[in-house]
Amino acid sequence: MRCLNCYTADMVTPQNGHPAYIECPACGAIELTYEPQDYQVESHTVPIRKVWNEKKGKWESELRIIGWFGGLKSHALLKLLKFGGTLRA
Ligand SMILES: [Zn+2]
Repeated sequence: MRCLNCYTADMVTPQNGHPAYIECPACGAIELTYEPQDYQVESHTVPIRKVWNEKKGKWESELRIIGWFGGLKSHALLKLLKFGGTLRA
C-alpha cells in the first residue's frame, strides 16, 4: 500500500514486527492496522454532526474527539485516562 502522506514509498511492517501498524520507510508516517475488540468499536464510530453557527450564518461540522490512553493492564490499576473534546470546522 502506497503511503498516503508522502506518496513516495510503500508502507511496510515496522522493524520491531509490531502487528498493530505499518509504517512508511521514507517519511515515518504510520497507519494503524489493528482490528478493534468489541468494547473498542464504539470509540471508532463517533458521528460527525452538522450544527448551525449563528455568528457565521452557516452549517458547520462538529466532531466529538475521544482518546483513550493507557498501557497493558493499566485499566486494572485505574490508570486509564479518557479524554474528550469537540472540534468544529
Ligand atoms: Zn511516506
